[in-house]
Amino acid sequence: MKILVINCGSSSLKYQVLEMETETLLCKGFVERIGLDGSVLKHEKADMEPVVLQAPMNDHKEAIAHVMDAVVDPEHGVASSMKEIGAVGHRVVHAGEKYAWSVLLTDDVIHALEDCVSLAPLHNPPNLLGIAACRELMPTTPMVGVFDTAFHQSMPEEYYIYAIPYEYYTKYGVRRYGFHGTSHRYVSERAAAMLGKEIADTKVITCHLGNGASITAIDGGKVLDTSMGFTPLEGLVMGTRCGDIDPAIIDFISQKEDLTIREVNDILNKKSGVLGISGVSSDFRDIEAAAAKGNARAALALKVYANKVKFYIGGYMAELNGADAIVFTAGLGENGVLMRNMICKDLTNLGILLSPERNEIRGREAVLSADDSPVSILLIPTNEELMIAKDTYKIVSE
Ligand code: AMP
Repeated sequence: MKILVINCGSSSLKYQVLEMETETLLCKGFVERIGLDGSVLKHEKADMEPVVLQAPMNDHKEAIAHVMDAVVDPEHGVASSMKEIGAVGHRVVHAGEKYAWSVLLTDDVIHALEDCVSLAPLHNPPNLLGIAACRELMPTTPMVGVFDTAFHQSMPEEYYIYAIPYEYYTKYGVRRYGFHGTSHRYVSERAAAMLGKEIADTKVITCHLGNGASITAIDGGKVLDTSMGFTPLEGLVMGTRCGDIDPAIIDFISQKEDLTIREVNDILNKKSGVLGISGVSSDFRDIEAAAAKGNARAALALKVYANKVKFYIGGYMAELNGADAIVFTAGLGENGVLMRNMICKDLTNLGILLSPERNEIRGREAVLSADDSPVSILLIPTNEELMIAKDTYKIVSE
């Protein structure tokens, strides 16, 4: 069966078609500038040069119609008709407390996801637009929702409750939810396979270090704790997000700079993190280059970032009472040789010993730890689309 995976943003969307019997990627692509001038679709079929289509795409429905055309194109397509697509898997960011697993997208489920819009006002609306467009264009094709929050629903209460008046949880759902769940689930399952262990007997700390970054403690395939919370702002230092800070800073800056709470919130999301510290960029390649040329604030940003990851690894080692493996994934986790070195430096007393030679690798599965390291350090490229396709395939095959 062929599965189409759709990941919709507000003005962009990414897609892939996978053949599930062999779990192979047939084609992938993305659309940018939906609803803006200069909409463009870039489509890539395995072993072929990418093709670029420029056409007006006023909304998500028009964009998905072009994706469907690309998928069935006689030259660059991977199916003779859309009837060959057995199901569509949709990435949805927030499913609140409602779903701890991927589900078939019925009217009831879609209403429940609409109820979560206030929890993820930037992410759920475009996700829902993509679902609505696909349902209109492919009315007989089953649709499955795969949620970033779902994997983290196994977190025990004592890990997700904030120490604020309890009624804010019961009245408004203010609690820790966690994000990047599909990525953490994928790499933790791969980690168990690489260690030759059952996931049920494996303790793993997964570091998803991309533009957004989060770290998760997973015990026996269930999340014990994760660094992102009510929103993806909590936890690690990120490209442009501050991560954990003293909440009193918000009122202080708002008064000093004469800004509204909403404006300060925007700064904490878009102008903070390593961009805020370095003043250079949110991209670690730029920051590393600046630090190498002697830019002190860029060097400081790298140190602050590494320290925060180290802090969480230490905390999660304590919460899990030891771990079998630390996993690095996502853009920086997969490619950041220097950053992995900085994070793993001086962790020997926790049984974490990086091999500097093995660490000189990017973008493919590898063991990075020394042979005598009690805790394995693994590099595992994430593959959220494969996970979405596998869940979708499983649900529609049941
Ligand atoms: P992602 O959100 O997973 O696509 O990750 C994007 C981030 O990964 C970028 O902002 C970069 O900071 C980081 N990254 C990608 N490639 C490299 C690299 N070769 N070295 C260091 N950082 C990288």
